[in-house]
Amino acid sequence: MGVVIRAYLFALDPTDGQEQQFRSHCGAGPFAYNWALAQVKANWNQRRAEESYGIPEPDRTPWITTSAYCLRKAWNRAKDDVAPWWAENSKEAYASGCANLAAALKNRRDGRARMPRFKSKRARPSCRFTTGAFGLGRDRRHVRLPRSGEIRTHESTRKLARRVEAETARIISATLSFQRGRWHVSFTVELADVVSPDVTPAVRGRERVVGVDLGITALATLSTGETITNPRHLDKAQRELRRAQRRASRRRGPDRRTGQEPSNRWRKANDRVSRLHARVGNQRRDALHKLTTRLVGEFDTIVIEDLHVAGMVRNRRLARRIADAGWGEFRRQLTYKADAAGVRLVVADRWFASSKTCSGCGAAKAKLALSERRYVCTACGLILDRDHNAALNLAALTGGGTGELPREQPAGTHVRPDFASGSETATGRPHSGQRHSRKDVAHGTELHVS
Ligand SMILES: [Zn+2]
Repeated sequence: MGVVIRAYLFALDPTDGQEQQFRSHCGAGPFAYNWALAQVKANWNQRRAEESYGIPEPDRTPWITTSAYCLRKAWNRAKDDVAPWWAENSKEAYASGCANLAAALKNRRDGRARMPRFKSKRARPSCRFTTGAFGLGRDRRHVRLPRSGEIRTHESTRKLARRVEAETARIISATLSFQRGRWHVSFTVELADVVSPDVTPAVRGRERVVGVDLGITALATLSTGETITNPRHLDKAQRELRRAQRRASRRRGPDRRTGQEPSNRWRKANDRVSRLHARVGNQRRDALHKLTTRLVGEFDTIVIEDLHVAGMVRNRRLARRIADAGWGEFRRQLTYKADAAGVRLVVADRWFASSKTCSGCGAAKAKLALSERRYVCTACGLILDRDHNAALNLAALTGGGTGELPREQPAGTHVRPDFASGSETATGRPHSGQRHSRKDVAHGTELHVS
């Protein structure tokens, strides 16, 4: 029985007082870090100066010890003078600052990193607790942190709470951070084996094949001709996000060149943008979960496009960022769900021109503008929705076919199993622009069909 380490992230709804405590806490670590770094630098400079005066080694100021333990001891001796307010924050915050510096100095000594620099106030606030009173709160809507006590969470903690109650989970540490416009706590949790590794899913038949073309306006188009639209709340959130971004851009942001501090109005507007980004991401992930679960349930072989092409082809600012995130997530979900269900997942090679190839006759176009929503084949006269055509080409990669159209392999296509990832990679390099005879197709095709 192995142990699995997993992180549970909860968004928090702190009171104003708690929020102030959070900021103070997250400033305490960097404060101790900067103080200790100043000590180390002063010590080194002193020794360098002594050396330049010709003072022999035994008479020079001794090296400062830079272990986490010694830095922390030095901090504890000095804290009453340099930070008389230190008691406002958990001791752990200062200790983690010292430990971080010790690690940074060790990395430098081992040649892995350069000399550590002073922590800036602009860095993303965060603070890690490994001892003290942290964990889940009195009910399933609260968590506990040292000093701040019980903090309301944005969502229920039941998933973790059930595991803790069943004693299959142990919380090792808690990290408080401000990210995506909100305060979050991330618990590092030790889980008793989640899945037994000896369970292998039954291998299924491979008769039901589907090609999936992920889109921006629609969530996905399947080779069966079905279009899966974005849920309405996701479209709405995306519209809100665009509006919030416009508003933030009208306010005075930070300027690195002039050192201008951002205005409070900008900060507020920007936090809202971050929160909306997070919401759009969550909603898209949720929609993708529903889609991937459905695909794995209904089909035996699923063919998708390589993330890279997809990202390059559809190149438009906001849409692009959202889509990029979506593709990676889609593939991740599909990979593990297909694995668990014994479904074959085939990823088309990045050179496979799924959009530009005719799904009817295999002829490829040299160019296809993004604005062309319909695929019109000059060779065989096929007229089809662009995304549907791409999905059909993907499905055809495995030699199986779903859909109404007669199936023909795109030229030069082969599917090779990729044992490392558990999924398979398909390669297709259609020769530019010409039509291929049946013989060419047969010759250039090496299929891996079950
Ligand atoms: Zn055609």
